Amino acid sequence: MAKGVWIVAEQRDGALRKVSFELASTARKLADQLGEEVGAVLCGSGVEAMAAELAKYGVDKVYVADNAALEPYTTDAHATAVAKIVKENDPAILFLGASAQGKDLSASLVGKLATGMATDCTDVKIADGKLCAVRPMYAGKCFGEIVIDTFPQMASLRPNVFPIVECAKAGEVVKFDAGLGEAKTKVAEVLKEAAGKIDVAEANVIVSGGRGMKGPEGYAILEELAGLLGAAVGASRAAVDAGWRPQADQVGQTGKVVSPNLYIACGISGAIQHLAGMSSSKYIVAINKDAEAPIFARADYGIVDDLFKVVPALTQEVKKLLA
Ligand SMILES: Cc1cc2nc3c(=O)[nH]c(=O)nc-3n(C[C@H](O)[C@H](O)[C@H](O)COP(=O)(O)OP(=O)(O)OC[C@H]3O[C@@H](n4cnc5c(N)ncnc54)[C@H](O)[C@@H]3O)c2cc1C
Repeated sequence: MAKGVWIVAEQRDGALRKVSFELASTARKLADQLGEEVGAVLCGSGVEAMAAELAKYGVDKVYVADNAALEPYTTDAHATAVAKIVKENDPAILFLGASAQGKDLSASLVGKLATGMATDCTDVKIADGKLCAVRPMYAGKCFGEIVIDTFPQMASLRPNVFPIVECAKAGEVVKFDAGLGEAKTKVAEVLKEAAGKIDVAEANVIVSGGRGMKGPEGYAILEELAGLLGAAVGASRAAVDAGWRPQADQVGQTGKVVSPNLYIACGISGAIQHLAGMSSSKYIVAINKDAEAPIFARADYGIVDDLFKVVPALTQEVKKLLA
């Protein structure tokens, strides 16, 4: 019988990603309710040293595939390795991050494991001994509860939504052979973001700009504020389509889904497709000169004024606080 709550841990450049700790903490909570163990699959090259860190977040057993062919990440190698160890151990539940890598991997994995999956979940619970995954539907207009009848019950969890809880465990490390055949894909080149740039999908604070920024140069005031707050700079699709910002910064239905603690929307009207990507932010501040802009219906705090006056004034206040 399928047993255990498992996660697929994510690592990059020699460090575990924050989402891995969110997955581990969530898995621990559910495993305690079921009276079962937490397992984690960790794939890559030179990753064994990271396994101990996962135990701090409640993982009982870390299954490590350490193989040069697993670095850099490719869908086929990672899906082959994860599917192999999952089939051998038959966990009841398998969580991945709804991150770029998690989304990519889960699509292939769900096929290899011939099971069902709930994507981009904002809550998970146990109901009648089964996983009940909660996810936004219709661009966030309502929430659906998904119960999967096949095993493992797979779900991807939205980054930054689930709390990280430390819980020291003496986790066991189990090495396994990834079972890789001849590589089907080869990474030709990895294009990296500029050093120090914070990815909107992982940021705790986002300062985002839309068409109201008037042009690419308008973002200088957002960059300054973001720099002080340790924030990422996001953008609406209108700004990306106009070529003012890179696509990687786009927040929304066809961009990234973000859940920071603080989202400051500047000159963004609040179209449903934008809200779909940021409405699970903990606090939303909107700055817009139009008091009727729909963003104010979702905002916790709103400032109706010209952003070119408000943002520099905010920046000055933050500077005073930091002085
Ligand atoms: C299939 C589909 C997918 C989409 N996906 C996305 C997506 O992923 N992300 C996304 O963002 N959009 C997406 N869109 C587009 C979306 O519908 C909107 O067109 C877009 O979000 C509008 O961007 P905006 O708010 O920057 O621009 P606008 O709607 O033009 O709003 C600009 C706002 O700036 C305010 N403003 C102007 N000047 C100032 C100033 N000086 N001070 C203060 N406020 C000012 C205005 O009052 C206005 O409210 C999608 C659309 C479709 C059809």
